[in-house]
Amino acid sequence: YEIPTSLRSASVPLSPPMERRQWSLTDFDVGKFIGEGKFGKVYLGREKQSGYVVALKVIYKTKLEKYRFHGHLRREIEIQHGLDHPNVLRLFAWFHDADRVVLVLEYAARGELYKLLRSVGHFSERTAATYVASLAGALAYCHKKQVIHRDIKPENLLLDIEGRLKIADFGWAVRSNAKRHTLCGTIDYLAPEMVEKKAHDYAVDNWTLGILCYEFLYGSPPFEAAEQQDTLMRIVKVDLLFPKTRDISADAKDLICKLLVKDSSKRISLDDILKHAWIVKNAEPSGSCIEQKASA
Ligand code: ATP
Ligand code: MG
Repeated sequence: YEIPTSLRSASVPLSPPMERRQWSLTDFDVGKFIGEGKFGKVYLGREKQSGYVVALKVIYKTKLEKYRFHGHLRREIEIQHGLDHPNVLRLFAWFHDADRVVLVLEYAARGELYKLLRSVGHFSERTAATYVASLAGALAYCHKKQVIHRDIKPENLLLDIEGRLKIADFGWAVRSNAKRHTLCGTIDYLAPEMVEKKAHDYAVDNWTLGILCYEFLYGSPPFEAAEQQDTLMRIVKVDLLFPKTRDISADAKDLICKLLVKDSSKRISLDDILKHAWIVKNAEPSGSCIEQKASA
């Protein structure tokens, strides 16, 4: 079935009554296939009693065993289940049977921010600032709960029906008290301290926010190069250029320069991002922003 989007927000409760009992697949009408990831498939779903629309991520246990990924998934579930913020994709519930693990997720009707960015080329300053503010708020919340995402990139950012940004995929997130040493993530978004395999902490996400802010405005990440080795070198040198191809405000460039700082302790804090002139002047307070195809 197709869910009529205009009806959805009006007729359906704000939050599904998900805490009350043990769930199984029979509690849901399973709708259209949304997409496939490394470990499972995602379907549209509707909880039968409340009519609440969700996304069901179905993961086959045979795949988990093959990749020895049980611990990894449990970590993803525990982290996401404990988070409740308007810009973090909710994990309402989860259950499993003999063959599968099912995650009951908030449905992000507008899909991947990445696809939108590629189709429009780049965002307006208003849209970019709104998304950067949403990300900063969500990350501040996560950091307070001692969660570092470490894999913030456009593919892991979804948009709900109102165009509100949702951070998804806590697959690589870690709960951290100590500094971490692992090298992971997509290379364009790696912070210099990760490239150099030094200890890293929360400030990694602040760096990534600088990369994303640039990519939202210019359409591609700042340290892109034909060879991976060259990207890594440009990251370590912070070889940052602002092409003349787009006329971007000085305020926006100022924020990017304050995020893409090699010394992680000198990067602008998440709280100060929200107070930065560019955000104050441009971000939509509601957090909802829908970029049209022909962007300014
Ligand atoms: P990975 O396995 O590395 O996480 P992935 O992010 O592509 O890869 P999934 O998270 O399983 O894989 O998602 C598969 C597809 O379903 C993606 O295209 C994603 O955009 C979409 N999707 C996932 N969760 C939701 C959701 N809650 N609402 C809407 N679409 C979703
Ligand atoms: Mg994913």
